[in-house]
Amino acid sequence: MGRYRRGVPTELPPLALAEPTDGVHQVDLDHAATTPTRPEARAALLAWLDAANASADHAEGRRARTAVEEARERSASLLGCSPHEVVFTSGGTEADNLAVTGAVWAARDRTRHVPHLLVSAIEHPAVLRTAEWLAGRGDCELDLIPVDAAGRVEVEHTLALLRPTTTLVSVMTANNELGTLQDVPALAAALAERDVPLHTDAVQAAATLPLEVATSGAAAVALSGHKFGAPQGVGAAVLRRGLAVEPLTHGGGQDRGVRSGTFPAALIAAFAAGLDAAANQQAALRASLQDATERLATALTCLDGVRRNGPLDPSQRLASHLHLSIDGVDPTALAFALDRAGLATAGGSACSSGAQRGSHVTRACGLRGAPLRLTTGWTTSEADLDRAIEVLTDVLPRLRRGATVLG
Ligand code: PLP
Repeated sequence: MGRYRRGVPTELPPLALAEPTDGVHQVDLDHAATTPTRPEARAALLAWLDAANASADHAEGRRARTAVEEARERSASLLGCSPHEVVFTSGGTEADNLAVTGAVWAARDRTRHVPHLLVSAIEHPAVLRTAEWLAGRGDCELDLIPVDAAGRVEVEHTLALLRPTTTLVSVMTANNELGTLQDVPALAAALAERDVPLHTDAVQAAATLPLEVATSGAAAVALSGHKFGAPQGVGAAVLRRGLAVEPLTHGGGQDRGVRSGTFPAALIAAFAAGLDAAANQQAALRASLQDATERLATALTCLDGVRRNGPLDPSQRLASHLHLSIDGVDPTALAFALDRAGLATAGGSACSSGAQRGSHVTRACGLRGAPLRLTTGWTTSEADLDRAIEVLTDVLPRLRRGATVLG
């Protein structure tokens, strides 16, 4: 219960139904920000917590190294790639940085041109800010691929933006705010015909969608453990054979020199165990989250001034994500009211805290109104959905009546 304890402003007057809960969230509808650690991952973490240094040349070191390499093999077989292509990182942000910066720097070093980088306008900041940083330093030229109102990237738009110097295209598998899915295989195939590698941030997709790296055609894939039931602080970059990547960290030469640093054996073992558990339960989870999301969507879009965003076709969006635009309410007041009522939700992306007034994603899609993201996961219950519907049904008209309720 203490999982989400945080400070809540005390000056807000009480809401009738949405009773204050001292900021202890009883209902977690923010699984896209982080989802609870699965028991299998927790057990693996504890089993290897006191592992020796996996590079040490003694029996305990070799045992730890075996755990790391078994986790790598297990992850690779779940992801449909070779173990040599899996580089463990501290999470999705580092995996994105390694793929994008590493590919740009490798291209810059081997050609006389300034590399050209193409990223979708709705990438997570781990890609977007990295790309802007590289462009700001003069390490690459950058173009953004526009999206439609549902957040979809068109293959033709992407191809039209290619230059002879394009080094990498980065388009996320699933958007963290809207849940919009991209057609990664079609994009990767069209780019491969032109010899341009595709990086895809699959951080949000891994919980509910099977990831077949080899068949997707992507040259690089970013993953993060805490989005599918492994702990925070571990992720992976899948870097396919043939993609040249300049290492960003230098030191002991671990992970074939691509990512130096002592292997966090416990986190790596937990990553593989979490991925395995998520994969085993994925089809059932996807079906149940689809139902949960539809139930929320049906109830909430009946309320005045509430619209659903993202693709209409369920096959083009994540089962876990519901993104709404709400007219006539102040986004900050909405966030406070829901927090106070014990609902953990997000206004934009949790990774850009304070993004309650919309984000680069809602702007790129031309969405108006207060944004609200509700995301479900493996611990979501019917009672969570009931409470969310009850609270929002109560809170929205009160917020619209405005000043009298929230000062
Ligand atoms: N990419 C996407 C799409 C995300 O949603 C996130 C986290 O929210 C990240 C990257 C960053 O992952 P991490 O928190 O593991 O650094």
